[in-house]
Amino acid sequence: MPAFGIQTRTREEAMDQAMLSVVRAVEAGATTMKGVIDATGLSRLKIERALAALEKQKLLVRDGQGFRATGLPRTAPNPRQCGSCNACCDILEVAAVDKPVNQLCRHWQAGTGCTIYASRPQMCRSFACAWLQGHLDDAWFPAKSGIVVHFSQDAVNVTVDDDCPDRWREEPYFSKLAEWSMNGIRRIGNRGYATLVVSSENRFLLLGRTVVPDPTPSGTAFLPLTPDTFRFWRATSPEHLQRLHERIAEIERIRQEFGSCAIPPNEDDDPVPPYRPALLRLSNHA
Ligand code: SF4
Ligand code: SF4
Repeated sequence: MPAFGIQTRTREEAMDQAMLSVVRAVEAGATTMKGVIDATGLSRLKIERALAALEKQKLLVRDGQGFRATGLPRTAPNPRQCGSCNACCDILEVAAVDKPVNQLCRHWQAGTGCTIYASRPQMCRSFACAWLQGHLDDAWFPAKSGIVVHFSQDAVNVTVDDDCPDRWREEPYFSKLAEWSMNGIRRIGNRGYATLVVSSENRFLLLGRTVVPDPTPSGTAFLPLTPDTFRFWRATSPEHLQRLHERIAEIERIRQEFGSCAIPPNEDDDPVPPYRPALLRLSNHA
C-alpha cells in the first residue's frame, strides 16, 4: 500500500528496534502519534522515547504538520518492497474508503495500482504490514501467503485471504503465530497484546497453540494446561470475566498447595463462589 522508505545498514546499527520501527513508519507516511501507533504496534511511551531520541540525533522533526523524517541517509534500497503485492488493498478492511474485508478496493486498477495514490487516505499512507517492516521471513510475503499481519496498539492482527481461509493453521504460519501469542501473554505488566485472526466470517483468538473461536467482547479467561496450551472460558459480561478470574486464581492456589486441581468440566458453566470447597471436592482434596 505505501511507498516505502529507505535505509542503510549504518543507520540500522545506530538505532534500537523501536527507533527503527518509528522511522520506518514516519518514512512510510505516518505523521501523527496515532499513525505511528497503528503502523508499529508500539506503546505511546516507547514511541515518545524513540521520537525524543530521533529528535536529539536530528533525524526527525515535529512541527505543526506532524512528524517528518529528516537528514536520513538514503543510499541503499530497502530489501523489502511491496512489489507485486496488493494484499492490503484486497484483504484488509479500509474504513476510510468504505472497503470491507476481503474485497478489492474500488480504487485499485490492474496495471495502474491505486488510482488515488496521491490523495489516498492517511491510513493507507501509514500502513506497513509486519512482513514489510521486516518482522517475518519471505514465506509470509502477503501476495504469496494470503495472510496480512499488522500491529495495532494492543494486538497482532492476522487477516487471511478468503481463497485460503485455513492457511494460517498450516506451517510455518501457525507455529510463528503461536509463538507471538505466547509472547503477548507473557508480557504481563509490560503491555501484553492479543493475537487475533480474521478468516472469512470467522474470528479467532490465539492462546499459544490453543485456538479460541468467536471470542466474546467481554474477554476470555484462561488457565495454562501445558507451556503453550490453555483451557479457556469466554466471558458473557465483565462481571462474568471477573468471576472466572477469581475461580482461576483459586485453581492456581490449589495447584500450588496440593500439586493439582480439577478443572470444572463445562466450558460455559457460570461459576458461583465460594470456589474453594467445590474445587477441593472435585479434586478429591477435601
Ligand atoms: S500487504 Fe504488506 S507487502 Fe503487501 S502491499 Fe500491503 S504493505 Fe505492501
Ligand atoms: S485507496 Fe484503496 S487502492 Fe488506494 S492504497 Fe488505499 S486501499 Fe489501496
